[in-house]
Amino acid sequence: MRETAEDKENTMSRFVKNKTKMVFYFSMEFLIGKLLENYLINLGLLDVVVKGLSDLGIDFYDLAEMENDPGLGSGGLGRLSACFLDSMASTGIAGYGVGLRFRFGLFKQRIDNGYQIEQPDAWLTNEYPWEMAKPSEAVEVKFGGVVDRTYDNGKLGFIHKGYDSVLAVPYDIPIVGYGGKNITSLRIFQALPMDDTVDMQAFNNGKYAEAMAKKSEAEAITCILYPEDGQPSGRVLRIKQEYLMVSAGIASILRIYESIYGNDAWADMPKHVSIHINDTHPAFCIPELMRVLLDDKGLEWDDAWDITRGVVSYTNHTVLPEALEKWPSDMLQHVVPRIYMIIEEIDRRFKEMLRNELGDWYNNCRNMGIIVDGMTRMANLSIIGSHHVNGVAEIHSQILKADLFKDFYLMNPDKFSNKTNGISHRRFLMQSNKPLASLITDCIGESWKKDPEKLSGLEKYANDKSVLEKLAAVKRESKARLASYISKKSGIDVDVDSIFDIQVKRMHAYKRQLLNAFKVLWLYNGIKDGSVTLPHPCVFIFSGKAAQGYHFAKEVIKFICSVADKVNSDEKVSKVIKVVFIENFCVSVAQQIYPAADISEQISTAGMEASGTGNMKFMMNGAITLGTLDGANVEISRLVGNDNCKIFGMTAEEVAHALRSREYNSRQFVSGHGTLSKITGQLVDGFFNSSGQSFWGIHDALMSRNDEFFVLKDFDSYVGAWMELSNTYGDSKVWNRMSLINIAKSGFFSSDRTIAEYDRDIWNTKGV
Ligand SMILES: *Cc1c(COP(=O)(O)O)cnc(C)c1O
Repeated sequence: MRETAEDKENTMSRFVKNKTKMVFYFSMEFLIGKLLENYLINLGLLDVVVKGLSDLGIDFYDLAEMENDPGLGSGGLGRLSACFLDSMASTGIAGYGVGLRFRFGLFKQRIDNGYQIEQPDAWLTNEYPWEMAKPSEAVEVKFGGVVDRTYDNGKLGFIHKGYDSVLAVPYDIPIVGYGGKNITSLRIFQALPMDDTVDMQAFNNGKYAEAMAKKSEAEAITCILYPEDGQPSGRVLRIKQEYLMVSAGIASILRIYESIYGNDAWADMPKHVSIHINDTHPAFCIPELMRVLLDDKGLEWDDAWDITRGVVSYTNHTVLPEALEKWPSDMLQHVVPRIYMIIEEIDRRFKEMLRNELGDWYNNCRNMGIIVDGMTRMANLSIIGSHHVNGVAEIHSQILKADLFKDFYLMNPDKFSNKTNGISHRRFLMQSNKPLASLITDCIGESWKKDPEKLSGLEKYANDKSVLEKLAAVKRESKARLASYISKKSGIDVDVDSIFDIQVKRMHAYKRQLLNAFKVLWLYNGIKDGSVTLPHPCVFIFSGKAAQGYHFAKEVIKFICSVADKVNSDEKVSKVIKVVFIENFCVSVAQQIYPAADISEQISTAGMEASGTGNMKFMMNGAITLGTLDGANVEISRLVGNDNCKIFGMTAEEVAHALRSREYNSRQFVSGHGTLSKITGQLVDGFFNSSGQSFWGIHDALMSRNDEFFVLKDFDSYVGAWMELSNTYGDSKVWNRMSLINIAKSGFFSSDRTIAEYDRDIWNTKGV
């Protein structure tokens, strides 16, 4: 580790010496997973260490298992930033992550009697071995107070007074690039009280909690990821998290910048530094950089604005209106008064500028303004304050241009582009599926590890009987490994020779785990009454966390578990199908699951999943996608062709039309549909009483709130597609060939490719 630390310094010195342009990737989440094995693979030391330990009678993998999986993220967005760090370091980009050091991360999920229980994820207890505290680089972050104007020698200035200070202490986690040549880092900040003190008087009066209040208040900022924001106090806490990350992160950047380029080279900053904001959580980067340039460095507004927009770029991750961040303006004014002043000025100037634009000024202001109806819209701030905006898959970027950000796009079309997401093929293939990785290397050599598009070389084995049989054996090995994990964790025995049909991701209405569960319930009903026979046994595997306050998603977990109880305890049905909910989906669990899938369930309501990356991990491990034309499923299906994946359901246009026209009526739809009448009836008619539950929340979402996510409407198409796919499984030659083609085409989804595109079109670290 000490050597790695030195190499990290060396990498940084090399970047400094060469004046390499640096990229600072700001993200609320970094779901980095366990690091020991990743470090050893990338340093080329894994084999030596495994062998050396084994000579000492120690199993490396038992040891690696003991490492904590840092809970610094919640799902796809956080895993994406982790894959990007890996790819930047591996492809020689001077890319550094900036985030927060959450004491308890998101939460650990336990399933108790089918209900999700959230437990604090104490990943820092017993110390985290890979981080290095840098207390000497801690910075002060200011909250609250008031801003006074000053007038000095004809120059207007601002003084921030009466604020509360919090200390942001950085911790660096090394990121080792493949080959070990570049070692960069992820910098995460922890909030601490400015000075370590207690209220002595309160303490001596026995009011211990009160005596420590200041400390607790400060530490709360980096206590957990995504605190509930239903209450104003929760919203204030989220604003503080965002501002602390940004303010401390920018202070770090400017310290490095000044040490290389001096303290008067601000106009050159866009040549040397990129700040990328992953979704809008770090959007305060824009007003914060303005604040520092204006108030601390004495620049004029126009110059500071050019620099800020030259440095910042923004990735959008969602089109769901409820997921677009907006904060009450009076709250912002209270928590970060100077920042809010700057946002107001950015907004005022932008709206002024809109007077010269086509269209109705008032409407333009309402659509594109930052501050509207007393709310501050972070996405609009991010677009206005950055030089580039991208979506994360073709269909998503298209929706941004045609719909969500249409007016911005028409004003400034060159600002928008697509960067289809990717995944680290090193972690999700080389590391987590070693048998497959060796088979690939046996066929086409090692070059795919550095150049994943070379996986296409596998295609010439599409009809090679021996390779296809080896591929099937490799899949069986991964399924056996997952089966033993399932047996250990939940006591359920699954047949390794059944189809492994898997849906693992955050629980969300639009991801439609419910549709999948309805299919299983339909199979249960059909197998029980003899109307359905399956040619192959199948196990349905689910895993995913629901947000703590998301009642519908939690009810769906309980529903899946109740269906599982019915299925697994039925003598006849359980011979044909099984259902498993694996608790606590996280990177290390994910690494066991993706390699074992035959069918990859990617069944979101079309138009709602920005990209997905789970779909890519499954594909790269040879699973066949069963999906809607949504997110990166579009690219997957184009790459592999319709013979090698199964697309079903409404298209994004059909969904948009149905929502607009209001032609769809779910009650009517169900009343004419025997199967769905039965299933929606079973939700509430006592069918699940043995597991102590009626599912009124689900029932009402479908029947009273008109099935907003088209679960019922897509049901027939989904079940039909699933039946066809599961029938194909019987022809192992065809199936294995499909699987091989998926792997062969998956090189496109390496995040090395994604990062190369960001660099080429947005960051330009290698010069234009
Ligand atoms: C890849 C991944 C995700 C994202 O999955 P999607 O299917 O794209 O939603 C979420 N969590 C973990 C742990 C992952 O590895």
